[in-house]
This record gives sequence, C-alpha cells and structure tokens, in this order.
Amino acid sequence: MSALTNIGRFAPSPTGPLHFGSLTSALASYLQTRQGQGQWLVRMEDLDPPREVSGASDEILQQLDNHGLHWDSSVLYQSNRLESYREALESLSDLGLIYHCQCNRQRISALGGIYDGHCRNLQLGKAGSAMRLIIRDRDTTISFVDQIMGHYQQQLSSEVGDFVLQRRDKLFSYQLAVVVDDQFQSISQVMRGADLLDSTPRQIYLQQSLGYQQPEYAHLPLALNGEGQKLSKQNHAASLQVGIESHNLWQALNWLRQEPPHELQYQSVDEILAWALSHWDVHKLGHQLGVRPENTTAPEGY
Ligand code: GLU
Ligand code: ZN
Repeated sequence: MSALTNIGRFAPSPTGPLHFGSLTSALASYLQTRQGQGQWLVRMEDLDPPREVSGASDEILQQLDNHGLHWDSSVLYQSNRLESYREALESLSDLGLIYHCQCNRQRISALGGIYDGHCRNLQLGKAGSAMRLIIRDRDTTISFVDQIMGHYQQQLSSEVGDFVLQRRDKLFSYQLAVVVDDQFQSISQVMRGADLLDSTPRQIYLQQSLGYQQPEYAHLPLALNGEGQKLSKQNHAASLQVGIESHNLWQALNWLRQEPPHELQYQSVDEILAWALSHWDVHKLGHQLGVRPENTTAPEGY
C-alpha cells in the first residue's frame, strides 16, 4: 500500500439524470474508494453546453444523495475550470506539440475517425481552427494494465491520429479536461464505464506530454438495454425512480456480481451500503482465465 491517499471520482456529464448504468459506475467507484478509506469526489463534466439539459446537474447530485452516495469536499464543475484548460494548452503549445487544424467535417469523417495529420505543417491561423495534439512518434504505443479488463494497448498514430484538444467552436475537449482535472484533483484511481477504455491511451499520452501522474484505471462492463445497446440518454434509458433507492442499489450490486443476499433489498440505503462496503470485491467482476467481463443486460425495469 502506498502512503498516498486513495482518491477516486465519479464524473457525470449533465446531459440527463442518472440511469441504471451510471448508478453502477457511481456505486462501484464509491465502494472501491471508500473501502480503501479514500476520498470520493464528484466532478460535473459540464463542458459542452449544447448537449446539456438544464437542471440535470442538480438532479444527478440529488439522485446520488438519495442513494447514500455522499461525496467528499465540494463538487468540481468543469465550467469553472476553463482557465486551467487554457494553461495546459499553452504548455503544450510551448512544447511545440499542438497545431491548428481547419479540416471540415466531411474530410474528417472520410478519414474514418483516424486523423492523418494533414494540417500539421500548414501553420494555419487561429480563426475557425481546432487545436490538435501531435502524436510524436509514428510508433507510439501506449499500454497499461486495467484492473478489470487486463492488459490494453493502442498504437496512437495508426488507431487514433493527432486528436482534438480544443474544438473549432473553442470548447475544450473531454480528453483534455479529464486529464487536467484528474491531475488537479490528485485522482489515484479512475473507475468508469468500459466505453471509455479506448480513450485511456489518449489520456495517458496527454499525461505524459504534460508531465502529470498517471492514475490506475479500472473499466467496468456496461449495462445494456434489451437491444444490446449501452444504456444512455441517446438510447432513452429511464431515469432512476425516486422512492425505490434500496431496490436500485440492490439491483446494481447484483449486476456488479457482488452476490447481495436476497433480504438485503428490504433494508435501508445505509444498511445496504454498509453491507456493500464490507463485501465489495472488484475481482468478482471478472477477468478470469484471461477473459474480460462482458457487458450484460440491465435488470428488468431499467
Ligand atoms: N463525463 C463522462 C461521461 O459521463 C465520464 C468521464 C470519465 O469518467 O472519465 O461519460
Ligand atoms: Zn486538418
């Protein structure tokens, strides 16, 4: 065990209220952090106003509170952090690691999502440009061991390409903000949904470029709807119902393969969390015999 405090976080985007999938992520990172006597932080990723729903931040916080998932210190809002993102971009610019890109949407989608570095040496101006990070070495391969998914690696130049840190509309990208804030909040472990597994090498590369610490990563399987899609706002996942918090928590624990006893679902939220804290075992989620845990369908009713 390191002497450093264990610090975890839940980082929702306020695009809508919590659904069953986001509850499983919040609960897992809460239990993992609190079991190690750590601090559990909440960060509101309100960086993309056009995608946000008014009132969603407060609703999410209320839902966490109703489920007994109380966080430490005050909530960090990314909308208050723009100056820090600007400074990080400036450091990268001083290192000669970013450039302006004016490729239009059609060109980029024709590339199939892997940017070809077209604008790298064009010395384009700021107006109407996005900012991209240079993947320095053609062979840069980032690999890490995920605590749930096991070994993962990506060759950034061939699988991603130079990626956007600031969009043409001047909004900062998720990749930049998440890295700057995980460092700012001294996050030691990131536990989140497996849909972000393939973003992790980009985040590690950015950490390395900025001289930041690298947290440990643990990516949770995703809860799917009846059609096999990730529960999400786009797929019309239902908001968690008020008044059945114990039921929601029990179902989330069960989905997370923690084998909660049947009677536990009739207990209070605090009793369920107390049981969960003393029994939480991330290894029950899987990665046995080299097989990654699979995404599985959410329980009936979610
Ligand atoms: N805000 C992101 C989301 O809601 C999660 C970011 C993260 O955990 O790194 O999907
Ligand atoms: Zn370009």
